[in-house]
Amino acid sequence: MKTLASYVKGSWVQGNDAAATLVNPATEEPVAQTSTAGVDFGGAVEYARRQGGPALRELTFAQRGELIRAMSKAIHDAREELIALATENGGNTRGDAKFDIDGAAGTLAAYADLATELGSARVLADGEGIQLGRSPRFHGQHIWTPRLGVAVHINAFNFPAWGLAEKAACALLAGMPVISKPATATSLVSWRAMQLIVEARALPDGALQLICGGAGDLVSHLGGQDVLAFTGSSDTAATLRAMDCAVRRSTRVNVEADSLNAAVLGPDVEPGSDTEDLFVADVVKDITQKTGQKCTAIRRVFVPASLVDHIAERIVERLGDIVVGNPADQGVRMGPLATAQQLADVRAGIERLAGETTEVFTGTAPNGKGYFVPIALRRTDDPANAAALNEHEVFGPVATLGVYDGAAETAAALVRKGAGGLVASVYSDDRAYLEAIVLDIAGHHGRVFIGSKKVAGHSPGPGTVLPLLTHGGPGRAGGGEELGGLRGMRLYQQRTAIEGDKTLIGALIG
Ligand code: NAP
Repeated sequence: MKTLASYVKGSWVQGNDAAATLVNPATEEPVAQTSTAGVDFGGAVEYARRQGGPALRELTFAQRGELIRAMSKAIHDAREELIALATENGGNTRGDAKFDIDGAAGTLAAYADLATELGSARVLADGEGIQLGRSPRFHGQHIWTPRLGVAVHINAFNFPAWGLAEKAACALLAGMPVISKPATATSLVSWRAMQLIVEARALPDGALQLICGGAGDLVSHLGGQDVLAFTGSSDTAATLRAMDCAVRRSTRVNVEADSLNAAVLGPDVEPGSDTEDLFVADVVKDITQKTGQKCTAIRRVFVPASLVDHIAERIVERLGDIVVGNPADQGVRMGPLATAQQLADVRAGIERLAGETTEVFTGTAPNGKGYFVPIALRRTDDPANAAALNEHEVFGPVATLGVYDGAAETAAALVRKGAGGLVASVYSDDRAYLEAIVLDIAGHHGRVFIGSKKVAGHSPGPGTVLPLLTHGGPGRAGGGEELGGLRGMRLYQQRTAIEGDKTLIGALIG
């Protein structure tokens, strides 16, 4: 069994007590242990501020981009090894593991490219300068500079590589050092990825530290120049938001939390059309990819009454082909849930849904050892009054068909019942229908995906977060925003209005 360690203040540190055991979720066998007992969290924060921050701020954007590119390469070069670890500790199929690991390398590479475009700058102008007096001499200009603290990144269990990489890419490019804390249960991949980054000497000292295990008192050390970017459950988010650093010291907090993502099928979509094929494929992918443990996965599937039986049949046909089992075995297309707690939560969630929905499909899954759960497709003809459907995220291979009357306004109202989401998707080729729904739901979401015959075969679907588009959503989704190309740096930068002599300001910001 491996013993993991945290990378703190330039060296690897093992905890001295009470280790957590990481298991293989397909077999329940232990694979590693880790502890952060005795780790000097305050020292890690200070080290980042004193060592990592100045080293990064000295660099131009292009130079920071080269660091990010080296991280991408370190991960990509060890792709096969990381895929094997994701199967062992995350229950990932090869496809699931690639989604996480290639997503990590790809997102870092995308940010490295953006950095190249910014070239030798260290400061960014925010919009055009403004004439403030009667003559052009007295001038104002908004600028972005890096915050002078540390970015603490706390991530969920489902993306141990991508979660580390996507947050780090934005912070490092902005010029902020990072302390990254993956979820303990699946931290084997994050730990190895960090080892690879350290071995490659990709980053200056103090630019990236890793906490492998419980967060201890890490967050309590944060202050007004620091950032806390959290991905995980709404309950943990509420605890973090209430901490003194956020309430009294204005640590900037970004939250990516739960989401009851909806997919809507328009009434114009013809059986057998490319748009219908795309809709069915995206729904099936989101139910089963990463065993439904994707924050962007489609949970609520709204289908016009005239099409629902046909659509249910098509989805069930596809779901029935999916073999659930140990992802290390040939032919398995969906693995177990990641943890015993996940298994208990998903079973309880399906029970809750069962109180207000009917069964359309329940698959089969191995009995005995392993956190396996059968794929479940449910249905309700009264989705507007289905409380669990619209309020409770079941974080597993479960979705519910909700029948609606085919009107765009009805669909929009149903989608909005999710009370703020990461992504909603609408599948239609009817311009008037799309106009009526897309702008109506946009304010409730960080992203809206439009599926049509024109994009069939050209898109990875709504469940894939792309580095150049924003990720995050209002309300239930946590109110945060990440990625979105250069927008992803905003969390880690301070906007300052500089006013004074125009020529001087021009010389200052370059
Ligand atoms: P979680 O239990 O809230 O844990 C998330 C992270 O918070 C873990 O790293 C955990 O560390 C840490 N944590 C827990 N309590 C803490 C505390 N008091 N102080 C500091 N850190 C603390 O969530 P999860 O079960 O890993 O993730 C599942 C949830 O995440 C789902 O609800 C899903 O929707 C959401 N999610 C959202 C997104 C998004 O982008 N919006 C993406 C993925 C997942 P330990 O593991 O050490 O306890």
